[in-house]
This record gives sequence, structure tokens and C-alpha cells, in this order.
Amino acid sequence: NKRLQNKVALITGGASGIGAAHVRLFSDAGAKVLVCDVQEELGCRVVDDVKRKSGEAEFFRLDVTDESNWKKAVAEAVGRFGSLTTLINNAGIFIPGGVESESNEGWNRVVAVNQTGVWLGMKTAMPELLKSGNAAIVNISSLYGLVGSPEGIAYHASKAAVRAMSKAAAVEYARRGLRVNTVYPGVIKTPILGEVPDYMMKALEEALPMGRIGIPEDIAYASLYLCSDEAQFVTGADLCVDGGAYA
Ligand code: NAD
Repeated sequence: NKRLQNKVALITGGASGIGAAHVRLFSDAGAKVLVCDVQEELGCRVVDDVKRKSGEAEFFRLDVTDESNWKKAVAEAVGRFGSLTTLINNAGIFIPGGVESESNEGWNRVVAVNQTGVWLGMKTAMPELLKSGNAAIVNISSLYGLVGSPEGIAYHASKAAVRAMSKAAAVEYARRGLRVNTVYPGVIKTPILGEVPDYMMKALEEALPMGRIGIPEDIAYASLYLCSDEAQFVTGADLCVDGGAYA
């Protein structure tokens, strides 16, 4: 019996990095997956990989900042797969900028995607999630939602907001068959890191307790547990997956 048998998951940012790893692991575990992203070509490639392994997945073009897009995405998941039991709010962007150097446009964009996008996802998916009676949301925050750095004031703010929204929703829905948890990735090798020169990557790895950065699957395995029925009693939890960075 597969761990996510009978689950239908909507995964945002599913075309790349951590989101794509969720798509692969969740479908291997038996879930049907709606892969949502603004990157259509990449997203369709992820779906093709799933189908090649006899999994069930479809791509849907979703901009998480757009509520009408969200309504269509949720309807698509239910229309194709019959229900919606699982939501992974993973789409996110990083724009560098300190307290003084951040532009207003950069701030607004980061908050729109990383923060408002998560709320819109929970809000729009909620009626269908509640219908299932046994639903789970995982919101992907960041180590930067918990600690400071000089790198991105808007990113820090938006990722701390993800933590707070998860906690609020966990308490609000705890008696209604819906669990909400937060996963905090440390440094994970994905395109969001951009072109980090080798020497900087080495220095970064040296500074981490485990001496290495993570891979997208490290994060997806954490969400897999939180979305499975093994985590029945787990809601409002914070799970750092960072090789000890927050220890
Ligand atoms: P990534 O850039 O590989 O993937 C992010 C995906 O989100 C992309 O496919 C992108 O197209 C999509 N996306 C961006 N804006 C969108 C929008 N408006 N609507 C829909 N999709 C959108 O990066 P990743 O590292 O896989 O990031 C996934 C999540 O993990 C993000 O929330 C990120 O902040 C978080 N995170 C990553 C790291 C890391 O080191 N990689 C660390 C902490 C947290």
C-alpha cells in the first residue's frame, strides 16, 4: 500500500527544483498530482517524466498571485482527479535587497508571490480540502523565515509570514480534518541559488554543520511524511530540513 494512495495533490512551483522533487516523490507514493507553475514547458516535462513511470499528473499554468487563476487550478484538480486532499504551497522567488537597497517593486513582488500567494492558495483550496475530511497543507518557508541575513529583507519578511499563516490556519482548522505544517529548507541546490561561484559554494558548505548543501528530495521527503496519514496528529509544526543549520 503506497503512502499517498488516494491523495490528490496540488503542488505550486512544481516545474523546478524543490517543487519538481515533490511531484516525483508524491506520484511515486501513489498521489495524483496537479503540477502548477508559470513555467509551462518545464512543468510539462516534469509531467511527462511522471507519466513515463505510469504515474498520474497534469500540468496547469498557475500564477500564485492571481486569485482567478487559483480558482481555475482548484477546479482543474477536482475535475481531473475527483477531489483535492493535499496542497503544497512551494512557489517562491528570491530578489536580493537590504533594508535600504530593496526597491519598492522588488518588495511588492516578493510579498505577492511568497506571502499573498500562500494565503490565496489556502483560501481558494480550502472548500475542497475540507470536503475530503482528511487533508493536509504544507507551506514551504525558509531558514530565512527564522534567522536574519543581509541578503533580502522582503524575502525574510515573506517567509516569516508563511510561518505565521501556517500556525494560524493550523489552529483555525484543527477540528475540521485539515492539518497545516511548515517546512524550512536550508541551502538546497536548485536554480533559485543562481550562479554561485564554486569557491563561494565551498565556503558555504564548510560553514554548514553537515558540511554540504541539500538536494530537493531532502525537502520533498519531509513534506511526504507531513502529508501522509502517518502524520495524523501533526499540525502547526515546524520542520527544519537544513543539515543542522538552525541547530
Ligand atoms: P526554483 O526557482 O527552482 O523553483 C521555484 C518555482 O516557483 C519555479 O518553477 C518558478 O517558476 C515558480 N514560480 C515563481 N513564481 C511563481 C508564481 N508567481 N506562480 C507560480 N509559480 C511560480 O527554486 P526552489 O529552490 O525549488 O524553491 C522552491 C521553494 O523553496 C521557494 O518557496 C523557495 O523560497 C524555497 N526555499 C528554497 C531554498 C533553496 O536553497 N533552494 C531555501 C529555502 C527556501
